[in-house]
Amino acid sequence: NQSLAELDPELAAAMAGELARERDTLEMIASENFVPRAVLQAQGSVLTNKYAEGYPGRRYYGGCEAVDVVEELARERVKALFGAEFANVQPHSGAQANAAVLMALMNPGEKLLGLDLAHGGHLTHGMRLNFSGKLYEVHAYGVSKDDHRVDMDALRKQAKEVQPKVIVAGWSAYPRHLDFAAFREIADEVGAYLWVDMAHFAGLVAAGLHPSPVPHAHVVSSTVHKTLGGPRSGLILAKQEFAKKLNSAVFPGQQGGPLMHVIAAKAAAFKIAGTDEFKDRQARTLSGAKILAERLTGADVAGKGVTVLTGGTDVHLVLVDLRNSELDGQQAEDLLHEVGITVNRNAVPFDPRPPMVTSGLRIGTAALATRGFGDAEFTEVADIIASALAGGDIEALRGRVSKLAQSFPLYEGLEDWGLL
Ligand code: PLP
Repeated sequence: NQSLAELDPELAAAMAGELARERDTLEMIASENFVPRAVLQAQGSVLTNKYAEGYPGRRYYGGCEAVDVVEELARERVKALFGAEFANVQPHSGAQANAAVLMALMNPGEKLLGLDLAHGGHLTHGMRLNFSGKLYEVHAYGVSKDDHRVDMDALRKQAKEVQPKVIVAGWSAYPRHLDFAAFREIADEVGAYLWVDMAHFAGLVAAGLHPSPVPHAHVVSSTVHKTLGGPRSGLILAKQEFAKKLNSAVFPGQQGGPLMHVIAAKAAAFKIAGTDEFKDRQARTLSGAKILAERLTGADVAGKGVTVLTGGTDVHLVLVDLRNSELDGQQAEDLLHEVGITVNRNAVPFDPRPPMVTSGLRIGTAALATRGFGDAEFTEVADIIASALAGGDIEALRGRVSKLAQSFPLYEGLEDWGLL
């Protein structure tokens, strides 16, 4: 019954190091967030002990009466949250949810039409080295060169030529809404299924601050840990007619036993996502991203003004375009790391630099909004980023970051929760 610190000081020290990093720096990776105490508790619970292959009421293991309640709570809550007919809450991750979606909707060798990775798509939407690129015949659509938005006329034309079995709408790096109704119209015209991957913007949808794909798509997948603010994991929503195929694709198709402690954490996160407090947080997330877009546009970087892709944002992230700057994505990421702001470099469409260097930065506001940031703090953050990229004094900027971090303490009292 030793505590982790007693059993394994080396491991405990590394974990304490991560807590300190989260507390002392500003987390602006667009796919990250901070889970609340209830989610940490659920994930650190005895539910990790339980095997529960199958679904509530139809398990392949005994002793599932308590975890059946847990999974039903998660399923019913997420269906209510998004107005969905069907939910599967067992995918261990977003990638596994997507593997199950494709397994349910198409056979190997059939055609998938998805957004190009280099234009903001995700690996699981058809990247060459991913299972999706290996199992299916992948065709990629892109954004247009002039406004960096998905051109629906071009997509319609391409869909008619390709005749895909599945069209996927969704992204990992794209700062605007997609027109889900138009995607569905195109899918219907060519007899394809529409699958929407809302991993990045699910929290905004839950709060009613982003159009919902649920009424339009045949199937919707998501992660739970980005704007939605829950445990690292995935989920699938769909029309009832796809229920059997999707359930079978998740288990036994892609997975064995579900992670019941993570499903419990999802149930807690879905409860939180239905509250007014959550809606306020998503509103601050959006407002913060708009402030970043405005204040970074025209910022002086190595003597050249930078821009943000599409000239702004409708979501929780901005994409800084460094194609005209001498500073590349890697250098910009490193500079911000030095002042205590964590972001990731990201290729921009038509990027002349190699993928490990890139000409872009992806900067997101979800985690800081969870921490409590509002417009005033996001204005200060935007100015710190602009100054850092313009070659400002690193020590002084690091001081401004520390002041912000200290004003919004993270996981206060966590040392007493018995988790670390
Ligand atoms: N789908 C999209 C659009 C994503 O951005 C991501 C993660 O970055 C995923 C799926 C995969 O999620 P995971 O990392 O949980 O496998």
